[in-house]
Amino acid sequence: MYLTTLPLEPMNARFLEKEYDFIVVGGGSAGAVISARLSENPAVTVLLIEAGGNEPVTSTVPWFHAVLPGSDLDWKFRTVPQTDILLGYENQVSPIRLVSFWPRGKVIGGTSSINTMIYMRGNKLDFDAWAAQGNDGWAYEDVLPYFKKAEHQTDPILAADTYHHGTNGPLIVQTPRHRSPVMGAFLKAGKYLGYDIVDPNGSHVTGFSPFQMTINKGIRWSTARAYLKPASRRTNLHIFLYSHVHTVLFDEQKRAIGVEYGANGLRHIVYCRKEVILSAGTIGSAKILLLSGIGPKEDLEEIGIFPNIANLQVGKNLQDHMGAFGLSWTIRKKKSAYSLLPLFNPITLKEYTLKHTGPFGETVGVEGNAFLHSRYSNKSTDWPDLQLFFLSATPAIDGGGGFQKYFGATTEMIETFYHPIKFKEGYTIVPILLRPFSRGYMKLRSHHPYDMPIIQPNFLSDRRDFDVLLDGLKHAVEIGNSKPFKKFGISMHLGVLPKCPHLQPGSDAYWVCFLRHNANTEHHVAGTCKMGPVHDKSAVVDPELKVHGVMGLRVADGSIMPTVVSANTNAAIIMIGEKAADLIKGSWM
Ligand SMILES: Cc1cc2nc3c(=O)[nH]c(=O)nc-3n(C[C@H](O)[C@H](O)[C@H](O)COP(=O)(O)OP(=O)(O)OC[C@H]3O[C@@H](n4cnc5c(N)ncnc54)[C@H](O)[C@@H]3O)c2cc1C
Repeated sequence: MYLTTLPLEPMNARFLEKEYDFIVVGGGSAGAVISARLSENPAVTVLLIEAGGNEPVTSTVPWFHAVLPGSDLDWKFRTVPQTDILLGYENQVSPIRLVSFWPRGKVIGGTSSINTMIYMRGNKLDFDAWAAQGNDGWAYEDVLPYFKKAEHQTDPILAADTYHHGTNGPLIVQTPRHRSPVMGAFLKAGKYLGYDIVDPNGSHVTGFSPFQMTINKGIRWSTARAYLKPASRRTNLHIFLYSHVHTVLFDEQKRAIGVEYGANGLRHIVYCRKEVILSAGTIGSAKILLLSGIGPKEDLEEIGIFPNIANLQVGKNLQDHMGAFGLSWTIRKKKSAYSLLPLFNPITLKEYTLKHTGPFGETVGVEGNAFLHSRYSNKSTDWPDLQLFFLSATPAIDGGGGFQKYFGATTEMIETFYHPIKFKEGYTIVPILLRPFSRGYMKLRSHHPYDMPIIQPNFLSDRRDFDVLLDGLKHAVEIGNSKPFKKFGISMHLGVLPKCPHLQPGSDAYWVCFLRHNANTEHHVAGTCKMGPVHDKSAVVDPELKVHGVMGLRVADGSIMPTVVSANTNAAIIMIGEKAADLIKGSWM
């Protein structure tokens, strides 16, 4: 029987030491890496404190990625209501509309244990831009060794490119075994339209490719599996689950000396000799800093947080990728796209249980990628501003219930816009804005550590973002209607938009309203503890990830990105974890 959970047992508080060399807060994409790497040295002691618990079976079986957001493994963050966008989404727990669901993993492995498992690093020029902002050591040539150190590339063709790929790291990366016929057409469409088939993590990225996944032989390869499981028996690494860190504690010299956390309904303190490393994610790390008195002075005083340890721009610079969902085609030729039917066949479950193959070992129709330039992008660079996801299914393949739960689509949206394509086979192309100009923020609602923060993403508030995404829709229409797809008997679905039912489908006004209904987060929020040199007044951490103005405290996770990378964020955050571990080792070991 392969359906095992990670054998990390929560350790009771009485097994905790009073003091460790390093305390890592959050065992997610970055924190798991840092804890495992630091504890490679038996001479130091490391405590990893994680608010969530063990990875359950549902998180290890790839197919279930579709149902993990909104489950007990999710922090279930919500944005504040947005104006004039998210017209097709609602917060189902209250009558307030137009909010975006922001799942984040509350489990060992963090969001790498609930995500879609796409392996994508970001563009070379993203990292060069970080370095150009004064972040020495973060240019592409500096970070590439850390991507490779993490990676265990299993595709022999890609692995042969040893300049870009690693084969000895803990993070197993796999090219999916199964490819649907419509996915084949997507790649052909790329060629037909004059693009290259590329390795999106290689030397030239503009073009089309199949996705690679952090899946190992049918098992999700979260950072808990990849890094912590092999390290979990080390006596110098203590992993403490179900423990929610409230604040970082400082001495009079503003040196971090430990953390206060809650577990089993009680408040505890644990001390560190060397450093506290916050890896609680873009929302979590910013929240802990703010609760600890590090952040905008006026905001903190307003909710009774004194003293102000450092007046830094924590919570600002919040960025996310927006994707335009809802652009789907139905097909008449059966068995050409993703189908839910095999899941109801007991043989499928048996196959997965015995061999880890079949639909349960794969993601739900998440198959292809294209990096393309919008009309606003500089085409002389290999730095496209659009990503297009190709899904061999429509959001209504199950009648729309899954999409409602995952993103909070309104019943009105399902019953009008999606109604004609309910349960039909087809494919979807989702254009994604890679380099948003819009900036949001997060701040505390109160000084209580268990209150949800206020998250204001200001989605598409900068008109340039809206225009790029509109142009992305045009690319998607061209690709989806192109010759290679015709043989499937395709029909592009332009449904009635509930808030502008009078608009002519396909008209300019229709596409604008389409975006206002369908655009939503791609779950790549970053930037709330921005990395930058001391003269950058918006920076929270320096290029060594040390929090400005205090000692013994670093942040290492998605929050430190000065600008969100032009791709899915997991691999880049694992790279941040690898680099952070080396920076810390360089300081102390
Ligand atoms: C639904 C979804 C799908 C996604 N799909 C992909 C994908 O396919 N590919 C990709 O590259 N990216 C994807 N992403 C994004 C990517 O997974 C995340 O950006 C990344 O995992 C975040 O890493 P992190 O280390 O910053 O935070 P996390 O991995 O979220 O880690 C933070 C950890 O800290 C813990 N924590 C938080 N607060 C506290 C506290 N106070 N005390 C103790 N512990 C705390 C959390 O429980 C968590 O374990 C997806 C994200 C989502 C939500």
